[in-house]
Amino acid sequence: DSFHDVEMGEIIMCNINLSRYTRPTPVQKYAIPIIKTKRDLMACAQTGSGKTAAFLLPVLSQIFMEGPGEALQAAKSSGENGKYNRRKQYPIALVLAPTRELALQIYEEARKVAYRSKVRPCVVYGGADIGQQIRELERGCHLLVATPGRLVDMMERGKIGMDYCNYLVLDEADRMLDMGFEPQIRRIVEQDTMPAKGSRQTMMFSATFPKEIQILARDFLEDYIFLAV
Ligand code: AMP
Repeated sequence: DSFHDVEMGEIIMCNINLSRYTRPTPVQKYAIPIIKTKRDLMACAQTGSGKTAAFLLPVLSQIFMEGPGEALQAAKSSGENGKYNRRKQYPIALVLAPTRELALQIYEEARKVAYRSKVRPCVVYGGADIGQQIRELERGCHLLVATPGRLVDMMERGKIGMDYCNYLVLDEADRMLDMGFEPQIRRIVEQDTMPAKGSRQTMMFSATFPKEIQILARDFLEDYIFLAV
């Protein structure tokens, strides 16, 4: 019943203390060990349950402990051969969220968790200056928080590649579908360059679990654990 039960890395543990999180909430208590064992997850959890930290803590600590990934490092050092393009950013983790407000909240929490760790979070969302967001991206981006429409736009402009995305989170999946984002979400997740399910780790969070979410879970998740708190 403590954040110390799971290996997170010293800086991340220190940042959890700075955030004054003393005990994991129920969704954190169950989801963090599942995510750490690299299983896909379908979690039903409400806003206010602490679901943001439930995925940010294990994903950021994994990136922190493992580094950006051998494949991306090798591609970078060998220059522009193969699929690596130095004008693009290749996030290791992608978090999709329905609204600008939620995306910003997730980003702010990610900044706290990743503080002083060299793991760099970024956020992109619609309705704001895209040039500014591109300049922020170009400073480096390990974990990207995005609303679906703006991310599709960024991909079409050749600013972001999903080729090295090892962690995919869909937050408030039911709200994203209610808002009509299914085509954009499928476009992002089902593009050829995104690692296939099974070779990436995928986590879906949703307050409800209707038929449409079950279908999305079937399509995006591999041999997943279902968690309801
Ligand atoms: P969320 O459900 O992710 O939107 O989180 C709701 C609020 O709970 C946020 O303000 C978090 O900063 C806070 N929170 C998350 N986890 C914990 C925890 N283990 N202890 C105390 N507060 C937390």
